[in-house]
Amino acid sequence: EKTIVQKVHAKMDKTLKQGKYMHAESKKEAQRIGVSMILGLVLGLILYYLGESERMNLKPAVSSFLGYIKPVGTIFIRSLKMVIVPLVLSSIFGAIVNLGTPENLGDMGKKALGYYFTTTAIAVFFGLVFVNLISPGTGADTSSAGLSGVSSELATRMQEQKGLYDTVVGVLTDSIPSNPVYALVGEGGRAEVLQIIVFAILFGIVALYNKKEAGPFVTLMESVEHLSMQLTHLIMKFAPIGIFVLMTPMIAKTGEGALKKLGWYMITVILGLACHACFLMFIACWRMKKSPLFILKGISAALFTAFSTSSSAATLPITMAAVKDNLGVQEETAEFVLPLGATVNMDGTALYESVAAIFIAQAYGIDLSLSQQIIIFLTASLAAIGAAAIPGAGMITMSIVLSAVGLPLDGVGLIVAVDRILDMFRTTVNVFGDTVGTIFVDSLMKKNKNSV
Ligand code: ASP
Repeated sequence: EKTIVQKVHAKMDKTLKQGKYMHAESKKEAQRIGVSMILGLVLGLILYYLGESERMNLKPAVSSFLGYIKPVGTIFIRSLKMVIVPLVLSSIFGAIVNLGTPENLGDMGKKALGYYFTTTAIAVFFGLVFVNLISPGTGADTSSAGLSGVSSELATRMQEQKGLYDTVVGVLTDSIPSNPVYALVGEGGRAEVLQIIVFAILFGIVALYNKKEAGPFVTLMESVEHLSMQLTHLIMKFAPIGIFVLMTPMIAKTGEGALKKLGWYMITVILGLACHACFLMFIACWRMKKSPLFILKGISAALFTAFSTSSSAATLPITMAAVKDNLGVQEETAEFVLPLGATVNMDGTALYESVAAIFIAQAYGIDLSLSQQIIIFLTASLAAIGAAAIPGAGMITMSIVLSAVGLPLDGVGLIVAVDRILDMFRTTVNVFGDTVGTIFVDSLMKKNKNSV
């Protein structure tokens, strides 16, 4: 007679042998996406030089070409966003029901939150170490200070940004939906993902206690979830074109001057992010007992998508597919931990905010005391939780960090020129952090199961 542990291991071996982890189709899909990202990058570079070259005088032609291809990228991002609401609602609800008891949910919730807070703090720590070591802001040119380079809508939102206490309390109160349907619709069509999560959790808990009455709704949600994933796979077929088209203008429109002027600042952020990614990879390999290559291959489609869309929320459906299909994470863990992580866990953003704040202080020649650096450490971690999983959100919540230590908001003008590019890198780390969180929590849950 086999023990439970042996049975679980046997089942895992069987899934491995069946090749369920990385089937050929998703491998090809990831390769296609990778190639298209590189092609988009190359075309972007070519267009950039054509547009800049005075001899050829092609600037208007390049701009109109970029204008023509833009709708294709927009269609791709909008299709991904289309899946978010049905996917988050059904997957979180399904996860709660599958967890079986509120205790299991509490257990998983604690593990997930513990992981989010610890890794975010470590990310900020890396950022602080690199920005203090490299000191990219010292002697930097402050002539571009001011909010004039920031779009007027963004500048207003930054100025309206509340203080730390109000932000934290605001996130908590705003997470309770006064009307769940309204949460699904959102203001201007931008769904309130955190509210949907809270509603799904509460509805799921109630369903656990009312199994019979919950039956039809559980079936409905299972169906919604299945169809959402199928829709994601369908959209992914379009991903190579979508990603190609998103990459091209991003590179073609970058000003070289900004890159040169802010080179050290960018290097600092990217080095910090790379260091944190290595740390995350270590956790993933340790918990999964797999090689980094195995993990990278499994989630590469999600990482490429994060890089080219700069939105963890838009990437969520693809991350979900990658984790479930290629990494063998249990469904209920992925369904609960990933949507929550995409909304609140942003290691890359937290790291970036701490580097940016200190860069601004260095550029203005403001010496920060240790206690001020500790305040930056805390506020950057919290501001990242408050940041929405959409492009550019990290820069808005940075006003919390700046005002907490009395740095001028105008300092944002110094870094805005390269924000879009850095957003690509930090979003990739955000999504990687969510994935590793899922692996981590899942390994602990499996361990619990085995020891029962
Ligand atoms: N774009 C990031 C994300 O979606 C948030 C940020 O701006 O840092 O994860």
